[in-house]
Amino acid sequence: MKIGIAMMSHETNTFSPVITDLERFSGGHGQPLEGQTALQTYRGTASCLGGYIEVAEAQQVDIEMGIAAGAPPSGPVEDDAFAYMCDAIIALAGRVDGLLLDLHGAMTTKTYDDGEGELLRRIRQQCPELPIAISLDMHANITEQMVSNCDVLTGYHTYPHIDMDSTARRAAEVFFDMLNGRVKPVLRWSNAPMLPHVMRQGTDDEPNASLQRRAIDLERSECLGVSVFTGFPHADIYDAGFSVVAMTDDEPTVAQSYVNELLQQAWQARGDFVYQIEDLGTSMQRAETAAAAPGTGPVIVLDHYDNTASGGTMDTTEVLSAILEAGLQRVAVFGFYDPDVVDQMAAAGVGATVTVDLGGKLPMPALSEQSQPIRLTGEVKLLSNGKFQAKVAMARGLTINMGRSAVLSVGSVDIAIISRHIEPYDPECFRSLGMEPTSYDYVMLKSRIHYRVGFRDTAKEVIECAGRGVCTSDYSQLTFDKVRRPVFPLDEDGSGSNEFWQIPDVNA
Ligand SMILES: [Zn+2]
Repeated sequence: MKIGIAMMSHETNTFSPVITDLERFSGGHGQPLEGQTALQTYRGTASCLGGYIEVAEAQQVDIEMGIAAGAPPSGPVEDDAFAYMCDAIIALAGRVDGLLLDLHGAMTTKTYDDGEGELLRRIRQQCPELPIAISLDMHANITEQMVSNCDVLTGYHTYPHIDMDSTARRAAEVFFDMLNGRVKPVLRWSNAPMLPHVMRQGTDDEPNASLQRRAIDLERSECLGVSVFTGFPHADIYDAGFSVVAMTDDEPTVAQSYVNELLQQAWQARGDFVYQIEDLGTSMQRAETAAAAPGTGPVIVLDHYDNTASGGTMDTTEVLSAILEAGLQRVAVFGFYDPDVVDQMAAAGVGATVTVDLGGKLPMPALSEQSQPIRLTGEVKLLSNGKFQAKVAMARGLTINMGRSAVLSVGSVDIAIISRHIEPYDPECFRSLGMEPTSYDYVMLKSRIHYRVGFRDTAKEVIECAGRGVCTSDYSQLTFDKVRRPVFPLDEDGSGSNEFWQIPDVNA
């Protein structure tokens, strides 16, 4: 028996201007890895592919490793990139007896709102009987096309996502039990009309902590899998938002009843999924107060409207400007995507004094106001090829490539400037550039929730800052055209209430 393993992973922010071409899926290799190189790169890592490879090798089946294409979140995927990845996976499907796929679940392309559903539909069209298991990100926007074109489906239970490998292992174990005739998985799913704010989706916090706990309890008792997807709201597609998928051993009614239970639980808690915004000036004052208070560790200044791992341009300047205007000292900043400034600094050389116009360069047509570059004069402190080994649970075993990188020191503010988008969730992103984050008074991060995995334990306090960017937590800054309406919290029912939805009858 031969099993195919492949990845096509992208979280698409339809408001993001960042281009998503095939190169972005390559991790800096020019083209996505395939075959033995991909197998060796991902074997033993804390990734979904690592989980699949581990289970498949334990089953002693032949493995054909297909394309391993994963891109950092950004705008809709270019059509030629999508076609390349689909063709590679469909060709693989024709050569194997089953497929284990690492997908994200919120991929939108220039042509298709539901990239994963379209891929799965094409595979099934070509190979109608082929067993398929998929593992998805918690930010997946689930569609009928996805669920009806696979046999096994699992999703992460953690955000920050520290259970990617175990999510894939769960899918693979059910998949092999199915191939060996031990179980007959059935999937049921539904969504609730709600767009939880990403800043309120962390699994250390309620209401998602309880929802995931209940899903895990059911998974260990009556179900083969229960996945609660908080969804990705910055994707303006019809099915964006909260959903639940349950998988049982040939008991569809049981599966649907648990879907309904969890949807009901989430809907009742919908108010707690709404993020409360604080103005930037107040946040800066709180940051200064926190830094002056007793205690150890840096104050994290979280520039969460411009999180690169949600499609942010990683070059908006509002929070850095506020830091400089407030005169904060001993600040480490990660980071700015600005290849032009890296080139300028590299040409000047380490130790040179340069004046640069940093950031504010990628136009954001989805927002009414643009970010502007800030002119800075400072010293080129360090130049790097920008590669480091990840150490935190999310990416353990993987090499992270932030492209040609540089550190600009403006007084006591040290700014990391990179040329491939990465989210700062692993302190190694600083350390590889000669900066020890815990030795600063402030650490500014362009992140939303994932920073928690590597920075929160050593932080004195975390101050969430409303800057500018396409990951804004203020939905009123965005225009939603396609998402199903009404949807909470965008709509009320006209009477000032938002009780416009009730859980469907399980028997209906
Ligand atoms: Zn995610």
